[in-house]
Amino acid sequence: MPECLFCGIAAGQVPATIVVDGKRVVAFRDITPQAPTHILVVPRDHYPDVAALAAAGDGLLDEVVTVARQVAEDEGIEATGYRIVFNTGRDGGQTVGHVHAHLLGGRSLTWPPG
Ligand code: AMP
Ligand code: ZN
Repeated sequence: MPECLFCGIAAGQVPATIVVDGKRVVAFRDITPQAPTHILVVPRDHYPDVAALAAAGDGLLDEVVTVARQVAEDEGIEATGYRIVFNTGRDGGQTVGHVHAHLLGGRSLTWPPG
């Protein structure tokens, strides 16, 4: 069992509601949804945060965002809009140390965040 929760989900060792099972990227429903659509998009490989993923520079960050947009389309929220969030570090509210894009939508989202 990997120590990292999202490595475990990507490896199929931790149960999750998977919506995209790609070669390099996996998407699954957030266990505590904050909006009608709340899906997490993660690379299978472990990167601690979005900056580390960007630094990898092999198109993987692009793929995470492209998959998020595709999921938004599949969920029927592409036209109404959505938010993609990478919480980073303590003050950013990151609680899982495996980079993940939150895809949120299906309701009007407030700004600024809390
Ligand atoms: P963050 O706080 O930005 O690091 O986001 C972590 C997210 O992971 C939170 O929205 C949690 O609800 C979600 N989460 C935690 N455990 C699981 C799990 N086992 N399956 C799906 N989502 C989870
Ligand atoms: Zn991991």
